[in-house]
Amino acid sequence: MSIKKILLGFLLIAFASVASVTFTIYKMQILTDNMLNIFIHPFQVNNAVAEIYTGVTVMDRDLKAAIHVHDMEHIKKNISELTEKILRQEERIEYNFAIIYENYLGDNHDIDNAYHAFIRWKTLVEQLITLLDSGKNHQANQLHNTRGIEAIEHFYQQNKVLNDFAVKKAGEFHSFSVVNSSHYTVTLILSLTLILSGFIIFYIVKNLLTLNQNYQHQLYLLDQNFLTATLTRDKEVIDISHALCRALKLDREAVLHTVNDWFFTDEQQYQSFESDILAGISISQEVFIRVAGKKLWFHLEVIPESTTEAGIDTFNVFFNDITDKKLLEKLSITDNMTGLYNRNYFDSVFPREFRRAKRDEKHFSVVLLDIDFFKQYNDTYGHQEGDKALIAVAKVFIDQAKRSSDFAFRVGGEEFLILTNQKDFISLELFVLNIIHRVEALKIPHEPSIVSEFLTVSAGAVQVSCEQDMTAEEVYKAADELLYQAKSAGRNGMKSKAFTLV
Ligand code: GH3
Ligand code: MG
Ligand code: MG
Repeated sequence: MSIKKILLGFLLIAFASVASVTFTIYKMQILTDNMLNIFIHPFQVNNAVAEIYTGVTVMDRDLKAAIHVHDMEHIKKNISELTEKILRQEERIEYNFAIIYENYLGDNHDIDNAYHAFIRWKTLVEQLITLLDSGKNHQANQLHNTRGIEAIEHFYQQNKVLNDFAVKKAGEFHSFSVVNSSHYTVTLILSLTLILSGFIIFYIVKNLLTLNQNYQHQLYLLDQNFLTATLTRDKEVIDISHALCRALKLDREAVLHTVNDWFFTDEQQYQSFESDILAGISISQEVFIRVAGKKLWFHLEVIPESTTEAGIDTFNVFFNDITDKKLLEKLSITDNMTGLYNRNYFDSVFPREFRRAKRDEKHFSVVLLDIDFFKQYNDTYGHQEGDKALIAVAKVFIDQAKRSSDFAFRVGGEEFLILTNQKDFISLELFVLNIIHRVEALKIPHEPSIVSEFLTVSAGAVQVSCEQDMTAEEVYKAADELLYQAKSAGRNGMKSKAFTLV
């Protein structure tokens, strides 16, 4: 939300800046256009008018000078010089009239009038030269003083009309550009833009602060609730969340910038992670950490983070406390009273282990055990004592089946089952006899028993070789039958059978 507002702010600033710059450029354009207009139109016309005026005046001055020459010797020479001079002036005047026609912004009649006045004067000049050429200086003087002066006066008047208009036009352009180039509008617009930008910047900064506040709040929440740490490839802790410190009962300041020794404590375990981490592969693993003597389980997510040329530099570790889940898992597969695995777990482990033994080409053994005359035991000592006896007997089974491939289950009230890999049949028989012996050696008094003064068990043991093609159910059934035989044979003993092809 705030990011959108900030972007909107920047957009407004950009818009206001573009608008004010465009406006200023537009104003400058008007100013330069006017300056150009003043230069092109009124100034050009004004210059041309001045040149025409000078030209005509010079022509008149030269004529007057020629009129007053009386020496016949010089007259001829003078006349040809005068004609030449006058022609040059006329050419110049024609040229300037062309400029005026091109640039005059007023009524063209004004130029026509001036031009006609000039033509009239020019015709008179030609007559004067003819008179002078034939030595009639006196008539020439008379003509000049009458019609000549009148024509030149008339011309001056017409020329003045053009000049006045040009000056008036220059004044107009000037005042127009002064009005339009007024600093006030440009200053006003620029000031407004500045004020607007100021407001928008305030608005942006305000939103940035909110954004930062939200971000800090989120960081705080993460720090307080997520179990995370960042470590270098040398296992130095460079960051650790307060939540993780609380969970692992660590002093954050003491742990920071020290080499981690509270997880990955098993060097071998870490080395198996390390190659993956350094290769940039994320790891997902369940590990346990001992915290104040308690075993806590965590689901660990290790994500390689920054990379340098040398490879992975740091990695983030995310912890998820799964101790409760692990406990539930354990509860769901164990028998509450004895601590042995329960019947449910047996149903899933039995076929799996049977298949594994076949695959590993090992003998697979199943031992079914049942307490002798337990009904009478309960009747004599009470149900509670019966429970205690069950727990004591179970301890023997747990102790006997402690290899990683051994499993001991409580499959019924006082019925037990052990899955074990024994290298041969003799080993299995010794294994079972040892259990039977150890139960009796517990010396739990059992008065109503007719086979011993102590509590005893009977067993049915089956060993299946890997090449044997039997189903799990068939193996179980065979063990059950052997247990029944052991009971019939007098109890406190076992019946066993090996299923081998040879
Ligand atoms: P046998 O030698 O033929 O096995 O004789 P038995 O009396 O043991 O006969 P059976 O196996 O049929 O007896 C089972 C008895 O076990 C019945 C029941 O009272 C007792 N039992 C089953 N579960 C529990 C239990 O959780 N606690 C106690 N105290 N007794 C149990
Ligand atoms: Mg029974
Ligand atoms: Mg029994």
